[in-house]
Amino acid sequence: MRVTRLVLRNFRNYAGLTLEFARNINIFIGRNAQGKTNILEALYLGAMGRSHRTAVDNELVRWGQGAALVEIAFTKQEVEHKLAIRLIPSQNKEILHNGHPIKQRELVGTLNAVLFSPEDLQLVKGAPALRRRFLDGEISQVSRAYYRALIQYNRVVQQRNSLLKKVREREAKADLIDAWDEQLAAGAAFLVGKRFEAVRKLAMLANLMHRRITASKENLSLSYYQPYLHPDDEAPKPLSSEWYRRQLTARRAEDIARGTTTIGPHRDDLLLAVNGHDLRVFGSQGQQRTGALALKLAELEFIKSETGEYPLLLLDDVMSELDEERRSHLLYFIRERIQTFITATDAKYFPDDLSGQYYQVAGGAVR
Ligand code: ATP
Ligand code: MG
Repeated sequence: MRVTRLVLRNFRNYAGLTLEFARNINIFIGRNAQGKTNILEALYLGAMGRSHRTAVDNELVRWGQGAALVEIAFTKQEVEHKLAIRLIPSQNKEILHNGHPIKQRELVGTLNAVLFSPEDLQLVKGAPALRRRFLDGEISQVSRAYYRALIQYNRVVQQRNSLLKKVREREAKADLIDAWDEQLAAGAAFLVGKRFEAVRKLAMLANLMHRRITASKENLSLSYYQPYLHPDDEAPKPLSSEWYRRQLTARRAEDIARGTTTIGPHRDDLLLAVNGHDLRVFGSQGQQRTGALALKLAELEFIKSETGEYPLLLLDDVMSELDEERRSHLLYFIRERIQTFITATDAKYFPDDLSGQYYQVAGGAVR
């Protein structure tokens, strides 16, 4: 996957910008608040149909302007593609793929990209929601069915939760919950099945990447965690929709009392351990960061193995967050193979012999 050209009109602090990219490494250097991340954000928008920093599309439109346009030309499996995304405040965005209008859910998976930002360094240590987003983002890029099911599932959870609250306040009858349980159970079983499959592959890849980065005897392991399962439970794996339906029924009183759905993929987590010890609890800061980096590199390999091509890699500000050794591992890994877009405030993080294209970013202009 290679992006050849990016065109921005009234996107964030860019009035107009056209960039042609190098095949391998593209490095954006500039002081704070100049527009470096905005470029990565535009590429991310092309991959996921939304920004990685905001759910509000209006924020992407240059202040005082009527609409923003992002155009991305890229090649995938040797075929040229063109995406055009028009953002108009208070309207749905328009997405054109090779001139044909498509929906956001059809866009995901068209242009694949993996973003790595300082926030991702919290992947190991941070809240479970971060790890779920990581898993969901990764699987959605290789499976449209998953992405669709995920959106649907989240909707069902929300509606079930609001019904649970109504039942609690005696504004609705409890048997109305049955219909939601049916849908929830089917969705949960499908999503968790896909996640199990992905985690099995990811665990192998992350272990491999981790060994390369650390060159030590540390052994990284990864497993899917369902906090509502009792350790002694003889639960089938992956869990069937029948199993979820029974559990939902068994927990209904508790769910009503709490006004929320207490089991399902929206509660699950990913457990990381080094030599059998929970990395979140026992890992040093350095070990946790290395774990996060290994996960991200594994994600690149995962997408490659599922789609046949590496995704774009967007590295926002992570160079300054990694030490010399991890930095050189990272650069060694991407070298020549993965089209990468890196932002940094200083060129000092990059070795002289790195064959990349440098761009100076200042005040919404790029040289
Ligand atoms: P840092 O090194 O601090 O991360 P950066 O170069 O990555 O900086 P960006 O986040 O890309 O900075 O750009 C931030 C700039 O864009 C800020 O000056 C901000 O005011 C401006 N900006 C953000 N949204 C808009 C908008 N909708 N219209 C115009 N300018 C905007
Ligand atoms: Mg930035």
